[in-house]
Formats: sequence, C-alpha cells, structure tokens
Amino acid sequence: MVQIRSVGVIGAGQMGSGIAHVCALGGYDVLLHDVSPDRIKASLSQIERNMSRQVARGIIDDEAMKTGLARIKAAEELQAIGQADLAIEAATEDEEVKKTIFKALAPHLAPNTLLASNTSSISITRLASATDRPERFIGLHFMNPVPLMNLVEIIRGIATDAVTYEAAVDFAKSLGKTTANAEDFPAFIVNRILVPMINEAIYTLYEGVGTVEAIDTAMKLGANHPMGPLELGDFIGLDTVLSIMNVLYEGLADSKYRPCPLLVKYVEAGWLGRKTGRGFYDYRGDQPVPTR
Ligand code: NAD
Repeated sequence: MVQIRSVGVIGAGQMGSGIAHVCALGGYDVLLHDVSPDRIKASLSQIERNMSRQVARGIIDDEAMKTGLARIKAAEELQAIGQADLAIEAATEDEEVKKTIFKALAPHLAPNTLLASNTSSISITRLASATDRPERFIGLHFMNPVPLMNLVEIIRGIATDAVTYEAAVDFAKSLGKTTANAEDFPAFIVNRILVPMINEAIYTLYEGVGTVEAIDTAMKLGANHPMGPLELGDFIGLDTVLSIMNVLYEGLADSKYRPCPLLVKYVEAGWLGRKTGRGFYDYRGDQPVPTR
C-alpha cells in the first residue's frame, strides 16, 4: 500500500497548473515548482481564476475553493519537491529537459516518493532510466484542460512495479478521473491518433486544400468534433504538437509521421497558439482571427 497525501508538480504551465488545481481540490497538499518564478505566480493566479469560474458555475463551493487554494504552495527550489509522496513532472515536452529535471531531483528524493511524468509522447522507460527508481516511475498523462477532461492515460515503463501502477490508478480515480492503460510506445494512445490528425490538417492548409476557417468548420460540422483541428493545435501548443510529431517520426521510423513544414515555420516564428497569443488564429483581439 502506498499512501499519497502530498503531490509535487514540476512545471507550472497550462498542464502543471491544471494538475495542481485538481490535486488541491482532491484533498492533496500541493507543491508547485517551475524554473521560472514568474510562471509559478502566473499559475497561482490562473488557478484562482479557474476555481472562481467553477464556483460561479456551481461546480464547487466557496469553502472548497478556499481550502483548495490554501493547499497549494509555491516551491521556488526543485529540491522541495523531493519530499512529496508523488512528484509529477509537467515541464516542456523535451526529453533532455525532463531527464535533467529527474537527475537534479534524485539526490533530494525521500525513499518512498513515486515519480510520474505527464509527457504526451516521450518513452516512460527512457525517462525512468534517468532516475534512481525506475520501478517507482510511471506515466500519468492528464488531458487539457485538466479540471474538465475526465481521462488520465496510464503508461507503465518496462520496470514499473505493480504497487506503483495500483497507486497511480487509485490516485487518478481519487481525482474523479477515468483511466485507460497504454503501452509505452511513442505518443501512447490519444496522441498517436490525435496529433497526426492535427498535422494532416496543417498539411491540408499548406497544400491549399482549404483555409483555416474551412478546415476547422469542416471537421466541426462534418466529423462532429467539438473543436477544429487547427484550433485544437493552437490550444495544445504548436511547440508541443511539433515535439510529439518528432517523437512519432523518430520513434516509429515511418515517413507518414513527418511534421508539416508549415507547423515547423509557426513554431520557429514563436507563434505557438493560445499561450503566446498567436498560432493558426490571432487571439489578441476580442475574437480569434485566422492568421492565413
Ligand atoms: P507549457 O509550455 O504551458 O508549460 C511548460 C512549463 O515547464 C513552463 O512553465 C516552463 O517554464 C516549465 N519548465 C521548462 N523547463 C523547466 C525546468 N527545467 N524545470 C521546471 N520547469 C520547467 O506546456 P504544457 O502544455 O503545460 O505541457 C507540459 C507537459 O504536459 C508536456 O510534457 C506536454 O507534452 C504535456 N501535455 C500537454 C498537453 C497540452 O494539451 N498542452 C496535454 C497533455 C500533456
């Protein structure tokens, strides 16, 4: 039996903020770390705004928001995370960045701390090998936005033990989520299917088959998707979409996964989608406006 009472979250971007939010409402003490102290501050205000919205909609009450917010503490130093029962890494989708974090964290870890990564695509087995405890390492892949999306994909690395797996499933369920198991292959289940579709939508734009608006309208009304694929790419973050395509391309060695040159160009321009104010749409005005 593994008792999880405290959770350390590494990376206070869109996913780390969402994970901290649901863990705090789930009754866990949360430590939130980012390499940028400004990101931690921004994340704490974002969580407060998102919880207020849940109060306004009657999803949680004032008391839950108050106690939830009080459970989240900023951790300016990575080492503080080592004392948590479970550390969830949700930093930038880059294997070297993630491995560096786990290596830096290793000397500060309590003996029983479980380690998880929220990676969208990177091998759990390889990330686990950068730690001192591959048997206590697992993939906990939350969906964006975390407070709204019910799924957590669970990915065992080659060494992950049964106790860690059971603790991870129980933890996800304690947050009110449903789990799906995926084997440790590039991009797992959700992104193996979803991200090539977004990349294909970008090729469709690149080849002039349709405009941004036509492509998104076609998929919303023609396939009953709640968001168009280009809108969804902007929502995920185009840097993350490109990283996932590269992991698929390299990991499966199949040319069908080559990232669209237009996606590369947007990322090189720093047009990463909603989080930077511009991607396939420009979000800086009242209404999103297509950028092509
Ligand atoms: P993001 O760009 O919003 O946030 C990443 C954060 O990591 C930033 O705040 C950055 O400062 C921080 N960071 C970078 N290097 C760091 C380091 N060395 N130590 C501590 N913090 C560091 O990205 P995101 O969308 O939140 O994605 C984070 C992770 O979650 C990625 O692995 C991504 O693949 C995964 N994910 C993303 C989505 C999505 O839809 N965006 C969905 C599921 C999983």
